[in-house]
Amino acid sequence: MSTSSKALTDLLALSHELGREERRLAILGEGNTSARTEAGTFLVKASGSNLATLAAASVSECRADALLGLLDQSDATDEAVEAALLASRIDPKARKPSVEAMFHAWLLGLPGVNFVGHTHPTAVNALLCSERARDFATRRLFPDEIVCCGPTSVLVPYTDPGAALARAIREGVERHREVTGLVPRLILLESHGLIALGATPQAVLAATLMAAKAAEITLGACAAGGLRYLSEPEVRRIAGRTDEHNRQKMLGM
Ligand SMILES: [Zn+2]
Repeated sequence: MSTSSKALTDLLALSHELGREERRLAILGEGNTSARTEAGTFLVKASGSNLATLAAASVSECRADALLGLLDQSDATDEAVEAALLASRIDPKARKPSVEAMFHAWLLGLPGVNFVGHTHPTAVNALLCSERARDFATRRLFPDEIVCCGPTSVLVPYTDPGAALARAIREGVERHREVTGLVPRLILLESHGLIALGATPQAVLAATLMAAKAAEITLGACAAGGLRYLSEPEVRRIAGRTDEHNRQKMLGM
């Protein structure tokens, strides 16, 4: 199997997992996924297609460099973005990639990131549409949340989808790397949804499912009388523990 057909098989399987209706991560045309193939190209879900039933015909192979220039043009018009999305396709007959392909292109250039999954989980969005969004991004409640989602996530203030959102994500991730020295596993978009990053599809799925579970636990703990977060030293200790690293390895993270 060539690199890109393996990436396609993995991308479709990841999309189907993220689209499973009972998981409440994405419905209808919500969410998108991408995978890095060889240097400079990536596969991304086409605009308007459904994660649960995603087929190869609804995946477009694109050149990242054709989209990355838009991140530095704050005056790019909607027409320019549209033209760049169409021009980024390797096969001109392929479907138009999602407008969110811009942030996928940039995130897949980060070290150790081969797969990206973006969803709108119901429980996570309950928090991202609330005053608790920042605490959900920066604090942790239980060890498996640290193992799968990292010690902290990036929180991106609400921005309309498109080039402006891709720029806001780049800014948030760059700041996170400066402060923590780590590529985040999870990016939380205020009033919108989450993005999970990983070396493997398993890592992306694990971060997404665990974030959704952490959100449900947050809501349950609020209802049970109040949240009790792990302390910063506890989070640091768990993030550095060898047995947790072994569990991450087993999860392909
Ligand atoms: Zn979205």
